[in-house]
Amino acid sequence: RTVYVNGEYLPETEAKVSIFDRGFLMADGVYEVTSVLGGKLIDFEGHSKRLERSLSELQIRKPMENEALLEIHRELVARNGIEDGLIYMQITRGAPGDRDFAFPSDETEPTVVLFTQSKPGLADSPAAKTGIKVISIPDIRWGRRDIKTVQLLYPSMGKMMAKAAGADDAWMVEEGAVTEGTSNNAYIVKGSTIITRQLGKEILHGITRAAVLRFAREAQMKVEERAFTIEEAQAADEAFVTSASTFVMPVVEIDGASVGQGTPGPVATRLREIYLEESRKAGL
Ligand code: PMP
Repeated sequence: RTVYVNGEYLPETEAKVSIFDRGFLMADGVYEVTSVLGGKLIDFEGHSKRLERSLSELQIRKPMENEALLEIHRELVARNGIEDGLIYMQITRGAPGDRDFAFPSDETEPTVVLFTQSKPGLADSPAAKTGIKVISIPDIRWGRRDIKTVQLLYPSMGKMMAKAAGADDAWMVEEGAVTEGTSNNAYIVKGSTIITRQLGKEILHGITRAAVLRFAREAQMKVEERAFTIEEAQAADEAFVTSASTFVMPVVEIDGASVGQGTPGPVATRLREIYLEESRKAGL
């Protein structure tokens, strides 16, 4: 696999970053994951806008313009022959010559790393047909979840807790309400109304979330952006999650209780179809 690191395209085994990189020492970095379907980038614009915002909130210098980032994405898709898959992009505050809590001077160049992950048939994952099971866990992450940092230890532990409990993923709960999934936004459906937590510092502003809510409204579905509890979700007609890598994924069980009929519901199924169709059309 060819990867990109700080201006160079290299075989993955030759790509290197410093041991003093602040991404490595302090999780001082941000990232984006963009999906590729049929060789095209899905919602690149949304991801590059969010990247810009994450960088600016953390005062990390933007290393290059979006057009240049798009070129690197395209180059990696081409060089690695990616039909369906993901592109991971990470930008950190760079590698000063030593470890220090204070931010380094402006001369320190941000570190830029991108790599592809080939996932043939990404859009026809079997899980989308059966739905997934989630457990609830307390949300003990930091208070700026709207910034997409590489600080992923707790979400990673959450996935392991889910696995140990025989489930597929976890929904995080704070002050009695669901914030989001470990790596996705969470939704429930009651009647014909789609309910998902309002934006704020408590959750990541999902790019897939924005697109799905737009398509839902265009299709005359009702959308309520508000917090909900695990009990309300268990009693809902449907539940689902969204992310750039799983699109719209039905949730059929929450903490051992079946949601609706215990199978993917019509709203989640329809939204998945619309999302895939529309985003393929708009792919870059
Ligand atoms: N919430 C969290 C915590 C995430 O990690 C992700 C995936 N990056 C999402 C939501 C979904 O965001 P997106 O639709 O932009 O992939």
